Amino acid sequence: MLTNNLGYPRIGSNRELKKACEQFWAGKSTLQNLVQVGKNIRRQNWELQKEKGIDLIPSNDFSFYDQVLDLSLTVGAIPKRYHEVILNKSNTELDLYFAMARGYQKEGLDITAMEMTKWFDTNYHYIVPEFTKDQQFKLFSTKLLDEYNESKRLGIQTKPVLIGPVSYLLLGKEKESGFDRIDLIKNLLPVYIEILKKLEAQQVEWVQFDEPFLSLDLTEKDKAAFKYVYAEIKKQFPKLKTLLATYFEALKDNTELTVGLPVHALHIDLVRNPEQLSTVLAAIPANLVLSIGVVDGRNIWKNDFRASLQLVETAKEKIGASRLIISPSCSLIHSPCDLDLETNEATLTPEIKQWLSFAKQKVEEIVTLKQLAEGDAQVQAKLESNDQANNNRKTSTLIHNPGVKQRVSGITVKDEQRLHPYASRSVVQREALKLPSFPTTTIGSFPQTAEVRSWRARFKKGELSQEAYDALIEKETKETIIFQEETGIDVLVHGEFERNDMVEYFGEQLAGFTFTKNGWVQSYGSRCVKPPIIYGDVHRPAPMTIRWSSFAQSLTDKWVKGMLTGPVTILQWSFVRNDQPRSETCTQIALAIRDEVVDLESAGIKIIQIDEPAIREGLPLRKADWQNYLHWAVRAFRISASGVQDETQIHTHMCYSEFNDIIQNIADMDADVITIECSRSQMELLDAFADFKYPNEIGPGVYDIHSPRVPAKEEMVFLLEKARAVIPSAQLWVNPDCGLKTRHWDETKKALTEMVAAAKVLREYV
Ligand code: GLN
Ligand code: ZN
Repeated sequence: MLTNNLGYPRIGSNRELKKACEQFWAGKSTLQNLVQVGKNIRRQNWELQKEKGIDLIPSNDFSFYDQVLDLSLTVGAIPKRYHEVILNKSNTELDLYFAMARGYQKEGLDITAMEMTKWFDTNYHYIVPEFTKDQQFKLFSTKLLDEYNESKRLGIQTKPVLIGPVSYLLLGKEKESGFDRIDLIKNLLPVYIEILKKLEAQQVEWVQFDEPFLSLDLTEKDKAAFKYVYAEIKKQFPKLKTLLATYFEALKDNTELTVGLPVHALHIDLVRNPEQLSTVLAAIPANLVLSIGVVDGRNIWKNDFRASLQLVETAKEKIGASRLIISPSCSLIHSPCDLDLETNEATLTPEIKQWLSFAKQKVEEIVTLKQLAEGDAQVQAKLESNDQANNNRKTSTLIHNPGVKQRVSGITVKDEQRLHPYASRSVVQREALKLPSFPTTTIGSFPQTAEVRSWRARFKKGELSQEAYDALIEKETKETIIFQEETGIDVLVHGEFERNDMVEYFGEQLAGFTFTKNGWVQSYGSRCVKPPIIYGDVHRPAPMTIRWSSFAQSLTDKWVKGMLTGPVTILQWSFVRNDQPRSETCTQIALAIRDEVVDLESAGIKIIQIDEPAIREGLPLRKADWQNYLHWAVRAFRISASGVQDETQIHTHMCYSEFNDIIQNIADMDADVITIECSRSQMELLDAFADFKYPNEIGPGVYDIHSPRVPAKEEMVFLLEKARAVIPSAQLWVNPDCGLKTRHWDETKKALTEMVAAAKVLREYV
């Protein structure tokens, strides 16, 4: 029996890589420094895994930005617009790499970055490969070989990891029409062969190919590509030990295809889907080695050794210990680094801490599981302490709140419905709110300046008293209200200055949540997130936003919109408990938000926005599972929104708005107003709403808040005209694409002034 890891976090346990990259980008440190930081992290990771007893230690899992971009550089898939960067002899390979990741503005060149998108259903973002019809590939970067050799020089034999050729093509995008990217497989494979030849010359033993698409819906062409690729590799490298890694879903209808591929070992994810063990074992050919992912690579819970050992036993009985590998479910880059660094008992209590396990601890768990499976008496104590921790978690009063469970089971259809349908609500709302046509509003946050952030930091450190902090936030809020009034915005917001983050702010006030000090996970490039941990039944002990919403409303005669984060988004951006279905946790959060909505209404807030930017990204990887998810996600939103009178107007907001395939579900959410991101697509994303004849009100974003650029009134009039061509004017709102948190005040003021002027132009002639 072997132990294996599919990938280790590369950010460094104190986010060393983030800091080094940002210093380098800012011109404050040298390339040599950055390279050295990378080297140190790799060495530490390899040595740690070796010391803990991992047999198959990954290499090339390190990346300065993203593993997909690494591969694009490896196989020379470099879009033409970067060729000038290559031609400039003073640029290094890393300069080119960062140009592709982040854009390039130097020497009179202004080259846009490559697109970024979510890595399957995780919160990690990868750089999307760009392919053209005549796409050629050639070995360009030797990163993978260099890192393999680097590990060897340290006396550690590693297993290079690379994304398999089929998944690599499927992850990319055709940049011109007239071809199918999967047809590039014949051009691409020779580069893989060349890499493998070089690795073989260096006596490599194992190579890991990540092919997560094998657990997704595949076309016949995709399937043929898999067969072609792995047959070729087998033909040319009959002795190489290839590990084919699948994760994030079960193989399901691709089981037969996958177990039939001529690889040495197959990895399957038994955390996401333990049931697939029996189907895979039933189909497994003699000699195929099986790697079972039993330690959760994507969540922070301590492994349940008894449950894992049962899976190990089942597999062992069928194929024998010698054909078995114990692994995490997927790469550990989705886990925080090291639980040992959580030493602050005020943030993470010892009781909760004993239920958790981060990357370093997960590596230990894998090794312990193997020892236990082999009957090693010396580790018996570890099984007992694992039992103890997990039993403590199962019965802890911190987790279980009968009141919450009862309330969830008592939810009726009435709780999921507003009092009357939108058609009659809208009449009452028009009467009550008296808004002009093309009402203007913003999405919620106003600039979070360095100053505002410094107040919070000082407050958290105890350097500012609650009173002093509140006074500063009051001042900022008041100025923002005055600014919005002066600018002529119709529906105001308080600005969200009191919030660090749209999920953390609520998590900190809800029961059932806890936080870490150092539980960072890479989101993209140097950006890391520190998701809250939902460990227990969620409820709202006290109002969360009334203080600031009421304060803001007291300053003006205009409506101030209450601002909340929706249940699905809170769920999506947290580490979620694994002892009950996600839908159950989501419903609990929905009730907590509902309580807040009702309290806001009682406090005189007539317009309440429940942000759900993450609803789309929560979609399951397999289409067959979509409706089940959408059903509970939409229901959670409706529960949160339906406690109010008809007169109260519920808004929702979503950032990324490609809604074609789920527009019915978006309509089922039944928000009175939805604001969406639209400007970058020149209102094209609105078509889904138009084609569907979306019945409620819509605010298609009229300017892009991701850029400091100030749009002119005319541009926004033009976009509103485009919107008006497909959506009746009476349904339209005027607003930016998203919150203004990351913008500066001067741009914000100018842009919103232009936006209000644009709305006025339309009002004049419509
Ligand atoms: N209300 C939030 C804000 O304005 C919404 C952010 C989001 O959609 N991601 O910041
Ligand atoms: Zn947004």
